[in-house]
Amino acid sequence: MQWNIPSLKDLEHYFWRCTACGTCKTAYDYGPPPKNRPICPAGLEFGFEGYYGSKGKAAFARGINSGELEWDEELLEAVYQCTICAGCQSQCQVDYKPHIPEVFEALRRKAVEDGFGPLPSQKVIAQSLRSYDNPYQGPRRVRTDWTRPFKKENKPIKNILKEPAPVLYFVGCTGAYNVPERVIPQATASLFQKLGVDFGILGENELCCGSTAMRLGDAEAFKRVAEANLETFRKLHQEQGVETIVTACAGCYRAILKDYSLAEEYGTVMAGLQVIHVTQFLYDLYQSGVLKFSEPLPLKVTYHDPCHAGRHLTKFTVDEEGTEMWAGAYIGLNEEDCLYDPPRELLKAIPGVELVEMERIRANSYCCGGGGGVMTGFPDWAQRNAALRIEEGLETGAEHMVSICPFCHFNLNQGSQALGSSMKLYDLIELIDRALPGK
Ligand code: SF4
Ligand code: SF4
Repeated sequence: MQWNIPSLKDLEHYFWRCTACGTCKTAYDYGPPPKNRPICPAGLEFGFEGYYGSKGKAAFARGINSGELEWDEELLEAVYQCTICAGCQSQCQVDYKPHIPEVFEALRRKAVEDGFGPLPSQKVIAQSLRSYDNPYQGPRRVRTDWTRPFKKENKPIKNILKEPAPVLYFVGCTGAYNVPERVIPQATASLFQKLGVDFGILGENELCCGSTAMRLGDAEAFKRVAEANLETFRKLHQEQGVETIVTACAGCYRAILKDYSLAEEYGTVMAGLQVIHVTQFLYDLYQSGVLKFSEPLPLKVTYHDPCHAGRHLTKFTVDEEGTEMWAGAYIGLNEEDCLYDPPRELLKAIPGVELVEMERIRANSYCCGGGGGVMTGFPDWAQRNAALRIEEGLETGAEHMVSICPFCHFNLNQGSQALGSSMKLYDLIELIDRALPGK
């Protein structure tokens, strides 16, 4: 396949547009009443090198690109001290804005190409992807362990390679291998069965979506699994009648929707196929009256917007030719793909659930701290940062926090435990499954 993954050099004219103004340090809500809080987990933890402004990572991009900077341990660490949360991108208001995470990942790709990146502790991910097709060093047969209760209760889940179905549930490695996160695929499959959704899974034949590899700058590892997955999707559409790929993982969703679209063949392969996050899938069923809630859930909750299912899906308009303003001018954005409203609407629809909002939400959401390889590279920092988000949740008076990403679910639970808090993380799908009586 032909991939249009930009190199650092390709993005040179963008990273020089950072003015070092520092606006990207803070999330603003103009109120009333006006509020502001830090938005960059890296900057908060590591000081100015962590920030995206030109005193930080934009400067690294310039220095590496021009040859004035050379890789060493310290620089490499600083480049990987970032959750790629795109919080800075939401705040930046100059022409650099549309390209910030792209530049950062291109810098990591350059580190990998030059034989330095990722960090030694993260190299195990690439090795695991090569050996097991997942980043968790788990044997392929373990991928379906979460389905055991369904077998026991004689509620079989289709193997989509053997039995046709219009819906492929792409489970993702975190839900399959990270034991506490198995509640997410279990709740998803349970809910689909209750709602009569005709779906199947790839089981032991599912491969990693490649999101982690892409975030770490390992483009070759990403392309290998992405190409294999796209080929599987094409086959499933042609031979097994698959029309919809549903994922309950924000990382898989972002990868299949956005990273895979960097393949020239994406449009052809995905013709007749849609990829959808389970939240949107259920929201559509709710709006059409198929999903009806009856069991009350008396819970006071707050909602955490995952970066990958939220602001990472913002579409930016750039005046490429300079016909309206100047070449490369940032003109505007479109948030229609960002899953900000559907999870909130679903929560509000569950009888008994009271939703109270944190200060930093939607595009201003404060990252849990687990993304961009940070949970592997800097587990203590990931947990400390998650604890900050839990503290923000506790300020609302909520008993629990809800999200739609297994990564956030895991990391925020770690943060809550570190605080000794009773706040538990729920995935939205768990609550919806509970609020729907079994058949
Ligand atoms: S992507 Fe997130 S962690 Fe990285 S520099 Fe931007 S705000 Fe900070
Ligand atoms: S990234 Fe944008 S907001 Fe941040 S310092 Fe550069 S120009 Fe300013």
